[in-house]
Amino acid sequence: MIDLHTHSTVSDGSDPPARIPELAAAAGCSAVALTDHDRLDGLAEARARAEALGVELVPGCEVSCEWAPGTLHVLVYFVEPGEGPLQDELARLQTDRTERNRQMVERLSVLGLPVTLEELAAEAGGDGAGRPHMASILVRKGVVGSVQEAFDRYLARGRPGYVSKARLSPRTVAEQARGSGGVAVLAHPLSLQLGERELDSTVAELADAGLSGLEALYGRYSPDERAGLADIAHRHGLVATGGSDYHGTYKPDLTVGTGQGDLSVPETTVTSLAERRP
Ligand code: AMP
Ligand code: ZN
Ligand code: FE
Ligand code: FE
Repeated sequence: MIDLHTHSTVSDGSDPPARIPELAAAAGCSAVALTDHDRLDGLAEARARAEALGVELVPGCEVSCEWAPGTLHVLVYFVEPGEGPLQDELARLQTDRTERNRQMVERLSVLGLPVTLEELAAEAGGDGAGRPHMASILVRKGVVGSVQEAFDRYLARGRPGYVSKARLSPRTVAEQARGSGGVAVLAHPLSLQLGERELDSTVAELADAGLSGLEALYGRYSPDERAGLADIAHRHGLVATGGSDYHGTYKPDLTVGTGQGDLSVPETTVTSLAERRP
């Protein structure tokens, strides 16, 4: 089996990039993708460890796109750090995130919730800090009882600490991914919060926009949901991909490879995806 969706300390996971292939190997995965939010910075470290362990490291990242009312995340695969349209876009997103963190910290301080940029950088282990890190600081300070409560009261979209971040259209991300030699995949499709019919027509639109796959086998989905999504993928000529969305201690119910214990993504998925590369 394989896992095509994991996060490290380079974004909002709790394990360093090198740890991801170790966990993949321990779970019996032959390949693992590192898909940090907006960043490719962990790939070199992860690849070095993966090679030593005989695990294939699939380069990736996850980009938030404009979408309402739910959220739309696009996973990009096979794009390496360096020059290219997607890489340039990721650099812009990083600049925007830094500014957004500044604004959110300011909002939190107005609300009487002391979180400093220094604490945020320490929590995130450098760049790439985001809302989960703010949540975790608020938990540690006893302001809230859990990360979820921090989101529900202060950090979720529409709550008083929230500041929106720059978002692209899925079509733009798909085009940039292809321009950089990669492919784009719709992540956790049920986050779109659509009924069966609407989901189907939206997937058709996204396929037309240049997406190559749909994450049917998602760590937190039930067997029925996974089967339904795989069916939608096939009907629209998309690769049914899958992964755990491992975040370490930030999402403690998820394990690399097996998700909540019942996930198993076939090895052929990565070959099918590679065949869609431009
Ligand atoms: P950011 O990129 O800083 O906006 O943070 C996005 C991350 O925050 C996501 O990957 C989720 O892990 C987490 N997140 C977003 N919304 C919520 C929510 N309503 N409840 C819990 N976690 C959330
Ligand atoms: Zn995340
Ligand atoms: Fe996501
Ligand atoms: Fe993710």
